[in-house]
Amino acid sequence: MTALDATPTRAAGAGATLEFVTIHGSWQRAARGAMLLGDDGTAQPSIFAEMSALAAATGAINLGQGFPDEDGPAEVLEAARQAITDGVNQYPPGRGIPVLREAIAGHQARWYGIHVDPEREVLVTAGATEALTATILALTEPGDEVVVFEPFYDLYGAVVELAGAKLVTVPLVAPHFESDLDALGAAVTDRTRLILVNSPHNPTGTVFGRETLELVVALAERYDAIIVTDEVYEHLTFGVEHVPVASLPGAAERTVTISSAAKTFSVTGWKIGWVIARPALIDAILSVKQFLSYVNGAPFQPAIAVGLDLPDAFFVDAAATLQAKRDLLIAGLTTAGFATSTPAGAYFIVADAAPLGRVFGEAGDAANFCRELPALAGVVAVPVTAFVRPEHRPQYASLVRFAFCKRVDVLEEAVARLGRLAR
Ligand code: PMP
Ligand code: GLN
Repeated sequence: MTALDATPTRAAGAGATLEFVTIHGSWQRAARGAMLLGDDGTAQPSIFAEMSALAAATGAINLGQGFPDEDGPAEVLEAARQAITDGVNQYPPGRGIPVLREAIAGHQARWYGIHVDPEREVLVTAGATEALTATILALTEPGDEVVVFEPFYDLYGAVVELAGAKLVTVPLVAPHFESDLDALGAAVTDRTRLILVNSPHNPTGTVFGRETLELVVALAERYDAIIVTDEVYEHLTFGVEHVPVASLPGAAERTVTISSAAKTFSVTGWKIGWVIARPALIDAILSVKQFLSYVNGAPFQPAIAVGLDLPDAFFVDAAATLQAKRDLLIAGLTTAGFATSTPAGAYFIVADAAPLGRVFGEAGDAANFCRELPALAGVVAVPVTAFVRPEHRPQYASLVRFAFCKRVDVLEEAVARLGRLAR
Protein backbone atom coordinates (compact mmCIF):
# COMPACT_ATOMS: atom_id res chain seq x y z
CA MET A 1 0.00 0.00 0.00
CA THR A 2 1.30 3.45 -0.86
CA ALA A 3 0.84 6.44 1.37
CA LEU A 4 -1.08 8.24 -1.34
CA ASP A 5 -3.57 6.16 -3.25
CA ALA A 6 -2.95 6.69 -6.97
CA THR A 7 -6.65 6.57 -7.69
CA PRO A 8 -8.45 9.81 -7.02
CA THR A 9 -11.61 9.09 -5.07
CA ARG A 10 -13.62 11.50 -7.18
CA ALA A 11 -13.84 11.55 -10.97
CA ALA A 12 -10.46 12.46 -12.41
CA GLY A 13 -10.21 15.74 -14.25
CA ALA A 14 -9.15 19.27 -13.64
CA GLY A 15 -10.33 19.01 -10.01
CA ALA A 16 -8.38 15.83 -9.24
CA THR A 17 -5.85 17.41 -6.95
CA LEU A 18 -4.19 15.90 -3.90
CA GLU A 19 -7.20 16.91 -1.89
CA PHE A 20 -9.24 14.18 -3.62
CA VAL A 21 -6.66 11.43 -3.21
CA THR A 22 -7.11 8.89 -0.46
CA ILE A 23 -4.59 9.47 2.31
CA HIS A 24 -4.01 6.25 4.18
CA GLY A 25 -3.79 6.34 7.93
CA SER A 26 -5.70 5.98 11.15
CA TRP A 27 -7.50 9.30 10.62
CA GLN A 28 -10.01 7.23 8.68
CA ARG A 29 -10.90 5.28 11.80
CA ALA A 30 -11.33 8.52 13.78
CA ALA A 31 -13.54 10.02 11.08
CA ARG A 32 -15.57 6.83 10.73
CA GLY A 33 -15.99 6.55 14.49
CA ALA A 34 -17.35 10.07 14.62
CA MET A 35 -19.60 9.18 11.68
CA LEU A 36 -17.80 11.76 9.53
CA LEU A 37 -16.28 9.58 6.83
CA GLY A 38 -18.14 10.35 3.62
CA ASP A 39 -19.16 7.67 1.11
CA ASP A 40 -16.45 9.03 -1.18
CA GLY A 41 -13.77 8.51 1.48
CA THR A 42 -13.39 12.16 2.40
CA ALA A 43 -13.64 13.60 5.91
CA GLN A 44 -16.74 15.67 6.56
CA PRO A 45 -16.64 18.56 9.06
CA SER A 46 -18.19 17.86 12.45
CA ILE A 47 -21.81 18.86 12.85
CA PHE A 48 -20.67 21.68 15.17
CA ALA A 49 -18.24 23.05 12.59
CA GLU A 50 -20.79 22.69 9.78
CA MET A 51 -23.59 24.42 11.66
CA SER A 52 -21.41 27.21 13.11
CA ALA A 53 -20.19 27.94 9.58
CA LEU A 54 -23.80 27.99 8.38
CA ALA A 55 -24.71 30.45 11.13
CA ALA A 56 -21.75 32.68 10.18
CA ALA A 57 -22.63 32.52 6.47
CA THR A 58 -26.33 33.26 6.93
CA GLY A 59 -26.29 35.57 9.95
CA ALA A 60 -28.62 33.15 11.74
CA ILE A 61 -28.60 32.92 15.53
CA ASN A 62 -26.31 30.05 16.49
CA LEU A 63 -28.11 27.71 18.87
CA GLY A 64 -26.13 24.84 17.36
CA GLN A 65 -22.65 24.60 18.84
CA GLY A 66 -22.71 24.69 22.63
CA PHE A 67 -20.67 27.65 23.80
CA PRO A 68 -21.77 30.60 25.93
CA ASP A 69 -21.88 34.10 24.47
CA GLU A 70 -21.13 35.82 27.78
CA ASP A 71 -17.93 35.97 29.79
CA GLY A 72 -17.54 34.01 32.97
CA PRO A 73 -16.70 35.37 36.43
CA ALA A 74 -14.60 38.55 36.38
CA GLU A 75 -12.23 37.28 39.12
CA VAL A 76 -11.32 34.29 36.96
CA LEU A 77 -10.65 36.41 33.87
CA GLU A 78 -8.61 38.87 35.92
CA ALA A 79 -6.55 36.05 37.47
CA ALA A 80 -5.52 34.89 33.98
CA ARG A 81 -4.52 38.41 32.95
CA GLN A 82 -2.55 38.78 36.17
CA ALA A 83 -0.81 35.43 35.62
CA ILE A 84 0.39 36.55 32.18
CA THR A 85 1.65 39.81 33.67
CA ASP A 86 3.39 37.84 36.41
CA GLY A 87 5.25 35.76 33.84
CA VAL A 88 3.32 32.48 34.14
CA ASN A 89 4.02 31.83 30.48
CA GLN A 90 6.24 28.75 30.28
CA TYR A 91 5.53 25.02 30.50
CA PRO A 92 3.63 24.18 33.66
CA PRO A 93 4.41 20.82 35.38
CA GLY A 94 3.21 17.76 33.45
CA ARG A 95 0.42 16.98 35.91
CA GLY A 96 -0.69 20.61 36.22
CA ILE A 97 0.32 23.34 38.66
CA PRO A 98 -0.04 22.32 42.33
CA VAL A 99 -2.47 25.14 43.17
CA LEU A 100 -4.91 23.91 40.51
CA ARG A 101 -4.58 20.27 41.49
CA GLU A 102 -5.28 21.27 45.09
CA ALA A 103 -8.31 23.33 44.00
CA ILE A 104 -9.65 20.36 42.01
CA ALA A 105 -9.24 18.08 45.03
CA GLY A 106 -10.85 20.74 47.26
CA HIS A 107 -13.78 21.04 44.86
CA GLN A 108 -14.45 17.28 44.97
CA ALA A 109 -14.38 17.33 48.78
CA ARG A 110 -16.58 20.42 49.09
CA TRP A 111 -19.29 19.39 46.63
CA TYR A 112 -19.30 15.60 46.80
CA GLY A 113 -17.40 14.50 49.91
CA ILE A 114 -14.86 12.76 47.66
CA HIS A 115 -11.30 12.92 49.01
CA VAL A 116 -8.42 12.60 46.56
CA ASP A 117 -4.67 13.16 46.74
CA PRO A 118 -3.82 16.22 44.60
CA GLU A 119 -0.27 14.93 44.12
CA ARG A 120 -1.05 11.51 42.71
CA GLU A 121 -4.73 11.34 41.86
CA VAL A 122 -5.31 14.50 39.80
CA LEU A 123 -4.10 15.27 36.28
CA VAL A 124 -4.72 18.58 34.47
CA THR A 125 -5.40 18.23 30.73
CA ALA A 126 -6.11 20.28 27.60
CA GLY A 127 -9.86 20.27 28.20
CA ALA A 128 -12.04 17.27 28.80
CA THR A 129 -11.30 16.49 25.16
CA GLU A 130 -7.70 15.53 25.86
CA ALA A 131 -8.68 13.88 29.14
CA LEU A 132 -11.12 11.59 27.32
CA THR A 133 -8.76 10.94 24.43
CA ALA A 134 -5.79 10.04 26.64
CA THR A 135 -7.98 7.88 28.88
CA ILE A 136 -9.54 5.86 26.07
CA LEU A 137 -6.21 5.41 24.26
CA ALA A 138 -4.40 4.51 27.48
CA LEU A 139 -6.88 2.00 28.84
CA THR A 140 -8.03 0.02 25.80
CA GLU A 141 -6.45 -2.59 23.56
CA PRO A 142 -7.64 -3.29 20.01
CA GLY A 143 -10.80 -5.38 20.15
CA ASP A 144 -11.86 -4.24 23.64
CA GLU A 145 -15.43 -3.00 23.96
CA VAL A 146 -16.48 0.39 25.27
CA VAL A 147 -20.11 0.69 26.37
CA VAL A 148 -21.77 4.08 26.00
CA PHE A 149 -25.30 5.51 25.96
CA GLU A 150 -26.56 6.62 22.56
CA PRO A 151 -26.97 9.42 21.40
CA PHE A 152 -23.30 10.07 22.28
CA TYR A 153 -20.82 12.94 21.99
CA ASP A 154 -18.90 12.48 18.73
CA LEU A 155 -15.47 12.28 20.36
CA TYR A 156 -16.28 8.94 22.02
CA GLY A 157 -16.85 7.20 18.71
CA ALA A 158 -13.80 8.83 17.11
CA VAL A 159 -11.31 7.88 19.81
CA VAL A 160 -12.70 4.42 20.49
CA GLU A 161 -12.24 3.57 16.79
CA LEU A 162 -8.84 5.26 16.69
CA ALA A 163 -7.81 2.94 19.52
CA GLY A 164 -9.04 -0.05 17.50
CA ALA A 165 -11.63 -0.73 20.19
CA LYS A 166 -15.35 -1.26 19.59
CA LEU A 167 -18.19 1.00 20.66
CA VAL A 168 -21.25 -0.79 22.06
CA THR A 169 -24.26 1.48 22.47
CA VAL A 170 -27.22 1.45 24.84
CA PRO A 171 -30.15 3.56 23.61
CA LEU A 172 -31.71 6.47 25.46
CA VAL A 173 -35.24 6.58 24.18
CA ALA A 174 -37.30 9.72 23.49
CA PRO A 175 -39.16 11.54 24.94
CA HIS A 176 -37.52 11.14 28.39
CA PHE A 177 -34.15 9.74 27.30
CA GLU A 178 -33.86 7.48 30.29
CA SER A 179 -31.63 4.48 30.32
CA ASP A 180 -33.07 1.03 29.75
CA LEU A 181 -31.47 -0.92 32.58
CA ASP A 182 -32.05 -4.28 30.91
CA ALA A 183 -30.32 -3.05 27.75
CA LEU A 184 -27.45 -1.72 29.85
CA GLY A 185 -27.15 -5.08 31.61
CA ALA A 186 -27.09 -6.90 28.28
CA ALA A 187 -24.46 -4.59 26.77
CA VAL A 188 -21.80 -5.15 29.42
CA THR A 189 -19.93 -8.44 29.09
CA ASP A 190 -16.48 -9.82 29.81
CA ARG A 191 -15.35 -8.13 26.59
CA THR A 192 -16.16 -4.72 28.09
CA ARG A 193 -13.10 -2.71 29.06
CA LEU A 194 -14.72 0.69 29.69
CA ILE A 195 -18.21 1.88 30.57
CA LEU A 196 -18.36 5.54 29.56
CA VAL A 197 -21.03 7.58 31.31
CA ASN A 198 -21.75 11.22 30.43
CA SER A 199 -23.91 12.87 33.10
CA PRO A 200 -25.43 15.44 32.72
CA HIS A 201 -25.74 14.15 29.19
CA ASN A 202 -25.03 15.86 25.87
CA PRO A 203 -27.26 16.10 23.83
CA THR A 204 -30.32 14.92 25.81
CA GLY A 205 -29.85 16.72 29.16
CA THR A 206 -30.47 13.49 31.08
CA VAL A 207 -28.98 13.48 34.57
CA PHE A 208 -28.57 9.82 35.46
CA GLY A 209 -30.05 8.80 38.80
CA ARG A 210 -28.52 6.57 41.42
CA GLU A 211 -30.27 3.43 40.19
CA THR A 212 -28.59 3.63 36.80
CA LEU A 213 -25.22 4.61 38.22
CA GLU A 214 -25.33 1.83 40.83
CA LEU A 215 -26.01 -0.65 38.07
CA VAL A 216 -23.01 0.72 36.14
CA VAL A 217 -20.83 0.15 39.20
CA ALA A 218 -22.20 -3.36 39.79
CA LEU A 219 -21.65 -4.32 36.15
CA ALA A 220 -18.13 -2.86 36.17
CA GLU A 221 -17.33 -4.90 39.28
CA ARG A 222 -18.83 -8.08 37.84
CA TYR A 223 -16.93 -7.85 34.55
CA ASP A 224 -13.84 -6.07 35.89
CA ALA A 225 -14.39 -3.02 33.69
CA ILE A 226 -13.27 0.56 34.30
CA ILE A 227 -15.85 3.35 34.48
CA VAL A 228 -15.02 6.60 32.71
CA THR A 229 -17.31 9.51 33.57
CA ASP A 230 -17.63 12.70 31.56
CA GLU A 231 -18.99 15.24 34.05
CA VAL A 232 -18.27 18.48 32.18
CA TYR A 233 -21.82 19.72 32.90
CA GLU A 234 -21.64 18.76 36.60
CA HIS A 235 -22.75 22.19 37.87
CA LEU A 236 -25.43 22.72 35.26
CA THR A 237 -28.35 20.82 36.78
CA PHE A 238 -31.87 22.07 37.34
CA GLY A 239 -33.45 20.94 40.58
CA VAL A 240 -31.81 17.52 40.54
CA GLU A 241 -28.63 16.36 42.19
CA HIS A 242 -25.54 15.51 40.15
CA VAL A 243 -24.19 12.22 41.52
CA PRO A 244 -20.55 11.59 40.59
CA VAL A 245 -20.11 7.87 39.98
CA ALA A 246 -16.93 7.92 42.09
CA SER A 247 -19.02 8.85 45.15
CA LEU A 248 -20.90 5.52 45.06
CA PRO A 249 -19.75 2.63 47.27
CA GLY A 250 -17.01 0.59 45.65
CA ALA A 251 -16.74 2.88 42.62
CA ALA A 252 -13.69 5.06 43.32
CA GLU A 253 -11.21 2.21 42.78
CA ARG A 254 -12.29 1.69 39.20
CA THR A 255 -13.59 5.11 38.10
CA VAL A 256 -11.83 7.74 36.01
CA THR A 257 -13.66 11.04 36.59
CA ILE A 258 -13.28 13.68 33.89
CA SER A 259 -14.43 17.29 34.01
CA SER A 260 -13.57 20.69 32.64
CA ALA A 261 -13.61 24.40 33.38
CA ALA A 262 -15.22 25.12 30.00
CA LYS A 263 -18.90 25.04 30.94
CA THR A 264 -18.72 25.84 34.63
CA PHE A 265 -16.82 29.10 34.06
CA SER A 266 -17.88 29.89 30.47
CA VAL A 267 -14.33 29.57 29.13
CA THR A 268 -14.64 26.98 26.36
CA GLY A 269 -11.61 28.47 24.59
CA TRP A 270 -9.23 28.04 27.54
CA LYS A 271 -9.10 24.25 27.33
CA ILE A 272 -8.47 23.40 30.96
CA GLY A 273 -9.83 20.02 31.99
CA TRP A 274 -8.86 17.32 34.46
CA VAL A 275 -8.84 13.65 35.32
CA ILE A 276 -9.31 12.21 38.81
CA ALA A 277 -8.50 8.55 39.44
CA ARG A 278 -6.41 6.21 41.56
CA PRO A 279 -2.62 6.74 41.14
CA ALA A 280 -2.03 3.71 38.89
CA LEU A 281 -4.78 4.83 36.51
CA ILE A 282 -3.49 8.42 36.49
CA ASP A 283 0.03 7.17 35.71
CA ALA A 284 -1.28 5.09 32.80
CA ILE A 285 -3.29 8.02 31.39
CA LEU A 286 -0.36 10.40 31.85
CA SER A 287 1.81 8.06 29.75
CA VAL A 288 -0.39 8.95 26.77
CA LYS A 289 -1.38 12.50 27.71
CA GLN A 290 2.24 13.67 27.85
CA PHE A 291 2.59 12.90 24.14
CA LEU A 292 -0.66 14.56 23.10
CA SER A 293 -0.39 18.15 24.34
CA TYR A 294 2.37 17.51 26.97
CA VAL A 295 0.99 20.52 28.92
CA ASN A 296 -1.21 23.53 28.21
CA GLY A 297 -2.70 26.79 29.39
CA ALA A 298 -0.07 27.92 31.96
CA PRO A 299 -1.74 31.26 32.85
CA PHE A 300 -5.22 29.75 32.76
CA GLN A 301 -4.41 27.09 35.32
CA PRO A 302 -4.12 29.44 38.34
CA ALA A 303 -7.21 31.31 37.08
CA ILE A 304 -9.29 28.12 37.13
CA ALA A 305 -8.02 27.45 40.66
CA VAL A 306 -9.57 30.82 41.59
CA GLY A 307 -12.79 29.75 39.89
CA LEU A 308 -13.01 26.41 41.68
CA ASP A 309 -12.56 28.20 45.01
CA LEU A 310 -15.45 30.64 44.38
CA PRO A 311 -18.24 30.54 46.98
CA ASP A 312 -21.14 28.10 46.55
CA ALA A 313 -23.39 30.98 45.50
CA PHE A 314 -21.55 31.39 42.20
CA PHE A 315 -22.26 27.79 41.15
CA VAL A 316 -25.86 27.84 42.39
CA ASP A 317 -26.64 31.17 40.69
CA ALA A 318 -25.10 30.05 37.40
CA ALA A 319 -27.42 27.02 37.33
CA ALA A 320 -30.46 29.14 38.26
CA THR A 321 -29.69 31.66 35.50
CA LEU A 322 -29.34 28.86 33.00
CA GLN A 323 -32.58 27.24 34.15
CA ALA A 324 -34.48 30.45 33.40
CA LYS A 325 -32.94 30.44 29.90
CA ARG A 326 -33.96 26.82 29.45
CA ASP A 327 -37.55 27.67 30.34
CA LEU A 328 -37.58 30.67 28.00
CA LEU A 329 -36.43 28.53 25.08
CA ILE A 330 -38.76 25.62 25.89
CA ALA A 331 -41.72 28.02 25.92
CA GLY A 332 -40.64 29.52 22.59
CA LEU A 333 -40.09 26.15 20.94
CA THR A 334 -43.47 24.96 22.17
CA THR A 335 -45.20 28.06 20.79
CA ALA A 336 -43.39 27.51 17.49
CA GLY A 337 -44.94 24.03 17.30
CA PHE A 338 -42.14 21.72 18.46
CA ALA A 339 -42.70 19.00 21.03
CA THR A 340 -39.99 19.56 23.63
CA SER A 341 -38.35 17.58 26.37
CA THR A 342 -37.28 19.27 29.61
CA PRO A 343 -33.59 18.64 30.25
CA ALA A 344 -32.57 18.20 33.89
CA GLY A 345 -29.01 19.27 33.11
CA ALA A 346 -26.45 20.57 30.59
CA TYR A 347 -27.46 23.34 28.19
CA PHE A 348 -29.35 21.69 25.36
CA ILE A 349 -33.03 21.09 24.60
CA VAL A 350 -34.02 18.24 22.33
CA ALA A 351 -37.10 19.25 20.36
CA ASP A 352 -39.17 17.09 18.04
CA ALA A 353 -39.80 18.89 14.76
CA ALA A 354 -42.31 16.32 13.45
CA PRO A 355 -45.35 18.17 14.92
CA LEU A 356 -44.44 21.17 12.72
CA GLY A 357 -46.12 19.25 9.91
CA ARG A 358 -45.48 20.43 6.38
CA VAL A 359 -42.36 22.48 7.17
CA PHE A 360 -40.68 19.44 8.63
CA GLY A 361 -42.18 17.04 6.09
CA GLU A 362 -40.62 18.93 3.22
CA ALA A 363 -37.20 18.71 4.87
CA GLY A 364 -37.67 15.00 5.47
CA ASP A 365 -35.31 14.61 8.39
CA ALA A 366 -33.69 16.62 11.16
CA ALA A 367 -30.39 17.03 9.30
CA ASN A 368 -32.07 18.63 6.27
CA PHE A 369 -34.38 20.58 8.52
CA CYS A 370 -31.35 22.06 10.34
CA ARG A 371 -29.75 23.00 7.04
CA GLU A 372 -32.97 24.81 6.09
CA LEU A 373 -33.65 26.39 9.46
CA PRO A 374 -31.56 29.54 8.79
CA ALA A 375 -33.76 30.27 5.75
CA LEU A 376 -36.97 29.24 7.50
CA ALA A 377 -36.40 31.02 10.79
CA GLY A 378 -32.95 32.62 11.01
CA VAL A 379 -31.79 30.14 13.63
CA VAL A 380 -29.21 27.34 13.63
CA ALA A 381 -29.57 24.07 15.57
CA VAL A 382 -28.06 20.60 15.23
CA PRO A 383 -29.77 17.29 14.39
CA VAL A 384 -29.65 14.68 17.14
CA THR A 385 -28.93 12.09 14.44
CA ALA A 386 -25.35 13.44 14.35
CA PHE A 387 -24.94 11.80 17.77
CA VAL A 388 -26.44 8.47 16.66
CA ARG A 389 -25.05 5.67 14.49
CA PRO A 390 -26.68 5.34 11.07
CA GLU A 391 -28.43 2.06 11.88
CA HIS A 392 -30.18 3.64 14.89
CA ARG A 393 -31.08 6.97 13.27
CA PRO A 394 -34.70 6.29 12.28
CA GLN A 395 -35.96 6.62 15.85
CA TYR A 396 -34.21 9.99 16.25
CA ALA A 397 -34.92 11.28 12.74
CA SER A 398 -37.07 14.27 13.70
CA LEU A 399 -35.12 15.42 16.77
CA VAL A 400 -33.21 18.70 16.87
CA ARG A 401 -30.85 20.00 19.58
CA PHE A 402 -31.02 23.68 20.56
CA ALA A 403 -28.40 25.24 22.89
CA PHE A 404 -29.69 27.71 25.47
CA CYS A 405 -26.33 28.95 26.87
CA LYS A 406 -26.88 32.33 25.20
CA ARG A 407 -27.80 35.84 26.38
CA VAL A 408 -31.47 36.34 27.25
CA ASP A 409 -31.91 38.95 24.49
CA VAL A 410 -30.41 36.51 21.96
CA LEU A 411 -32.78 33.75 23.11
CA GLU A 412 -35.74 36.15 22.96
CA GLU A 413 -34.84 37.08 19.41
CA ALA A 414 -34.42 33.40 18.51
CA VAL A 415 -37.83 32.61 20.00
CA ALA A 416 -39.43 35.45 18.04
CA ARG A 417 -37.86 34.16 14.83
CA LEU A 418 -38.82 30.54 15.52
CA GLY A 419 -42.40 31.77 15.94
CA ARG A 420 -42.45 32.13 12.13
CA LEU A 421 -42.56 28.35 11.87
CA ALA A 422 -45.97 28.32 13.54
CA ARG A 423 -47.51 30.49 10.82
N1 PMP B 1 -17.70 16.13 26.77
C1 PMP B 1 -18.89 16.63 26.44
C2 PMP B 1 -20.11 15.85 26.71
C3 PMP B 1 -18.97 17.90 25.85
O1 PMP B 1 -20.15 18.40 25.51
C4 PMP B 1 -17.78 18.62 25.62
C5 PMP B 1 -17.75 19.99 25.00
N2 PMP B 1 -18.73 20.54 24.47
C6 PMP B 1 -16.56 18.04 25.96
C7 PMP B 1 -16.56 16.79 26.53
C8 PMP B 1 -15.26 18.73 25.70
O2 PMP B 1 -14.90 19.54 26.75
P1 PMP B 1 -13.66 20.55 26.63
O3 PMP B 1 -14.16 21.75 25.91
O4 PMP B 1 -13.29 20.83 28.05
O5 PMP B 1 -12.58 19.86 25.90
N1 GLN C 1 -19.41 20.22 22.94
C1 GLN C 1 -19.92 21.23 22.09
C2 GLN C 1 -21.34 20.89 21.70
O1 GLN C 1 -21.80 19.81 21.96
C3 GLN C 1 -19.14 21.37 20.82
C4 GLN C 1 -17.69 21.25 20.91
C5 GLN C 1 -17.11 21.02 19.55
O2 GLN C 1 -17.38 21.75 18.62
N2 GLN C 1 -16.35 19.98 19.44
O3 GLN C 1 -21.98 21.72 21.13
